[in-house]
Amino acid sequence: MAIRQIITAPDIRLKQVSEQVDAVDDDLRALMDDMLETMYAAPGVGLAAIQIGISQRIIVMDLARDEEPPAPRYFINPEILEASEELVIYEEGCLSVPEMYDEVERPNKVRIRYLDYHGNPQEHECEEFLATCIQHEMDHLEGILFIDHLSKLKRNMILRKLQKAKRGQGETQPA
Ligand SMILES: [Zn+2]
Repeated sequence: MAIRQIITAPDIRLKQVSEQVDAVDDDLRALMDDMLETMYAAPGVGLAAIQIGISQRIIVMDLARDEEPPAPRYFINPEILEASEELVIYEEGCLSVPEMYDEVERPNKVRIRYLDYHGNPQEHECEEFLATCIQHEMDHLEGILFIDHLSKLKRNMILRKLQKAKRGQGETQPA
């Protein structure tokens, strides 16, 4: 396993729409293992493949609390089958939007279909924080960040701060 570099906004790569995964094989599982290790090291609770520059529809997640044993989850080619009309607000953050948090409103429940670590089809009803996390990660697959749900004013303020932080680190900005 290896820790990969997480891409941070603003970066054009994060706006890509990720592609469907054709086959869940050992190479893909090795990639998911790397994603999980990268997410744990960050530390974070969710990571989409595009955040390490791989535009495939893959998400890893672990919502276990510190005192609980690890509970990794893997979602390949996830689709939302149904979303509740009832909405809920959580404060969101993102490994690609470091140290920025804001409230986003999303459906409180979603029913999803996906392939698991072994490539088996699964359906799952997600509620509350899990529902928010899966929707946040699935947004990444469409090139959408949580700050895209905020007002233009707030988004631009956050992007300017991130840009400034990057310049401070001497990181070059891809076009
Ligand atoms: Zn994110």
